[in-house]
Amino acid sequence: MANPSIQNDLRKTRASPGTPLYVHLPFCAAKCHYCDFFSVAAEGHDRGALLEALLEEARRFAPREPRTVFLGGGTPSLLEAPELVRVLEELERICGWRAAAGEVTVECNPESLDLAKARLLRDLGVNRLSIGFQSLDPATLQLFGRVHDVEMSFAAFEAARTAGFENLNLDLIYAVPGQELEQWERDLTRIVALKPEHLSAYNLTFEEETLFAKWLEEGRLKPLPEERELAFFWRTRERLAEAGLRAYEISNFSRTGRECAHNLNYWHNGEYLGIGPSAVSKVGDQRLANVKGIQGYARRIAEHPDALVSSEEPGALTRLGETWWLGLRLARGLSQAQARERARFPEGEHDPMPDVAKTLLGQGLLEEFEGRLRLSLAGLPLADYVARQFLAAAG
Ligand code: SF4
Repeated sequence: MANPSIQNDLRKTRASPGTPLYVHLPFCAAKCHYCDFFSVAAEGHDRGALLEALLEEARRFAPREPRTVFLGGGTPSLLEAPELVRVLEELERICGWRAAAGEVTVECNPESLDLAKARLLRDLGVNRLSIGFQSLDPATLQLFGRVHDVEMSFAAFEAARTAGFENLNLDLIYAVPGQELEQWERDLTRIVALKPEHLSAYNLTFEEETLFAKWLEEGRLKPLPEERELAFFWRTRERLAEAGLRAYEISNFSRTGRECAHNLNYWHNGEYLGIGPSAVSKVGDQRLANVKGIQGYARRIAEHPDALVSSEEPGALTRLGETWWLGLRLARGLSQAQARERARFPEGEHDPMPDVAKTLLGQGLLEEFEGRLRLSLAGLPLADYVARQFLAAAG
């Protein structure tokens, strides 16, 4: 339901030039059992109407010359060639992203990325693809409800390389119920042999309102014990480091210079503009969220100045707590001065975070490095606990 209190002109103008742009394309071949992103099985939906609504939202709010562009979802690669041309060419007319954006990513799934589509995306100006491999184990892919097999994943990677992509990310999920460490290590060996520039490898989580959460409740799925999850976490870091893929964020690994610029901006608590159903934005100090729902979103865009369902403007202390929470996910960490600057924390106001940091340093969960604070080896697996200390101090 739309919140009537924010229906009127909250966002009056386009985001400032250069602001990173996220576009949410919510269609997938089928819904994966663990996924809590806003996405729907594509069949039976009027994709054209949704795309036109999304482009209309871009006309109203998208920044000129975004530094980065990220088409996520959902499965953007599921769009047919004319749909991809329409979206990317019209966004070019609206934003002029081609000359401005250093990094332009499109999320893809193996079942919808062949050589023709990879070439089309390359020709349209996309320079980075993120491919959802998730697992190299056929039984795990089935458990996940994925609609592709392992061979299709390798074929999609090959297609992307043949089309000329030199910046590829692969998404993976580990610590799956029943998974053996040896099997995961074998998967990692096959993955690093592909020499991707970037990997996102996440510990499986059971998100609310997913089939996985239901199966967990019913006892059909049993999560791995914590110490086994930790063994996966450390082995992943070691194996990828050996292959030259450095953990620059808790769950993200890259070759030097291939960190995801778009996501770095999130971890720096920077501004960004999201368009599409369920997309969120950070504009100035405002946090804005669009309505979910395909028809609801299109209707809102047709009848209202925006598609917002919520907006909030957190105070300076909350912004500071969030900045620490996000910044400590990065291996390089952050300094007290950087945190205050990113949070736009007013000069002269009392900052409680140095005291929090002092306690965590004393507990060995943080360490000082080149003038910044970062998670220590002991603190890495306790990142959520550390983050909570900063958030709690923010009140
Ligand atoms: S393909 Fe991705 S976005 Fe779509 S349902 Fe699966 S995990 Fe979610």
